[in-house]
Amino acid sequence: MLLTITTNRKPATDLSFLLHKHPDKVQQVEISAGIAHIFYPEVSEERCSIGLLLDIDPIGLVRKKNENDFALQQYVNDRPYVASSLMSAAIARAFGTAMGGRCQLKPELVSIPFPLEIQLSGLPVSGGEELLRSLFEPLGYTVECSRYPVDPQFPEWGNSRYFSVRLTNSVTVQQLLSHLYLLIPVCDNEKHYFVGQHDIDKLMEKGKDWLPNHPAKELITKRYLKYSSNLTNEALERLLIEEEEPGEDESVAEEAFENTRKLRVHDQRLKVVCDELLLTGAHSVADLGCGEGKLLRLLLEQKQFKKILGMDVSHRSLSIAHEKLKTERMPEKQRERISLLQGSLMYRDKRLEGYEAAALVEVIEHLDEPRLAAMEKVIFGYTKPVYVIITTPNKEYNVLFESMSHDKMRHSDHRFEWTRQEFADWGNRIASEHGYNVSFKSVGDEAPEVGALTQMAVFSRNK
Ligand code: SAH
Repeated sequence: MLLTITTNRKPATDLSFLLHKHPDKVQQVEISAGIAHIFYPEVSEERCSIGLLLDIDPIGLVRKKNENDFALQQYVNDRPYVASSLMSAAIARAFGTAMGGRCQLKPELVSIPFPLEIQLSGLPVSGGEELLRSLFEPLGYTVECSRYPVDPQFPEWGNSRYFSVRLTNSVTVQQLLSHLYLLIPVCDNEKHYFVGQHDIDKLMEKGKDWLPNHPAKELITKRYLKYSSNLTNEALERLLIEEEEPGEDESVAEEAFENTRKLRVHDQRLKVVCDELLLTGAHSVADLGCGEGKLLRLLLEQKQFKKILGMDVSHRSLSIAHEKLKTERMPEKQRERISLLQGSLMYRDKRLEGYEAAALVEVIEHLDEPRLAAMEKVIFGYTKPVYVIITTPNKEYNVLFESMSHDKMRHSDHRFEWTRQEFADWGNRIASEHGYNVSFKSVGDEAPEVGALTQMAVFSRNK
């Protein structure tokens, strides 16, 4: 599939600043199942045009196979040529900065509507011209399209579902990209990868400025989340909430935002950890590497926990935690339950003693090998809480992140990410060397074959 974006707003080369791509270079970005080429078919002060061409590796696509595919379809399909959700991934990867509304050299351009012409070749559309119009016209686009015949030599075979589409509109480049990012896969209605919780987040984030008021928001949401009804309902609920509460003052709006994001992946993870801590029956808990204190907030809500500790090596995170938990203004009784400490998992620390349970949520992957070994000695060899709960990314799930290339990790500070087997090997060794029992659980939606986003180990000390 080929996408071109053209403007004639002078100087038209501003487009290259906005998209952060130099007009003299042909560039490539890698996406999970192939490469996208970025080039300029036309560059002048009067008219500038940028192209994004998808070059999909069909073998890579098969590797990311979908359990619903029947065997032959894995090999004989149109995905290498159309792969529309991969076009979204390529847009995000190639123009991520522009999508985020940032332009380093000419920031004033970000909020300016540009006269834009968009050409999409080989766009699969389930629902034909009518659907195309119902998606793009409410956003102000003029839509012209023509349908490819199944085979030009045999006109009697009729038309295919592939379109050549020309859209024109005056919008900011950021708006344009968010429209294309969500609506291209909606046209296709055939996402080839597993749809999970993180897709709701993408939908909410990219559509926040226009989806709540779009007359086809229900269809867009349903198709984008591929009729997975639980996810769709949640997304629709969130859209409704966002729609109902415009113009609130900031703090109220922020709270509403918090509410609507309640089920976000990380919150879900923290809730699972909190529930697991409750199950242990522990009355005292240390959250080690507590960051900005989100888990601490959940722990405070539970009467079972009489003594709560948040420890982190980062002063900055701790001061944010203080602020968020409003420790200064806490009633005396609450304040007695919680303490925040600056410290490191690398060193034996008497202040960590006497807590029945410890949690390390998304912490170990930030430790390089010697530090991980030091943490093991400090926590399992010296402090020895009765229960230790550890979560870490499940590397196998990364193949489901469209815009992530294979050699990357989820966060630039991660020193490693483990498969379920690697985590199990590490956990089992620790358990046997330090006198613990361990069980492994997944956190989040389980995807076929690759498991869930997050993995969790629950250690309990042998009596
Ligand atoms: N548990 C939090 C934060 C995870 S990010 C949450 O789930 O939201 C990882 C955290 O580990 C960061 O806050 C970082 O400052 C902390 N950290 C990294 N190395 C550490 C160390 N050696 N000792 C204590 N904390 C550490």
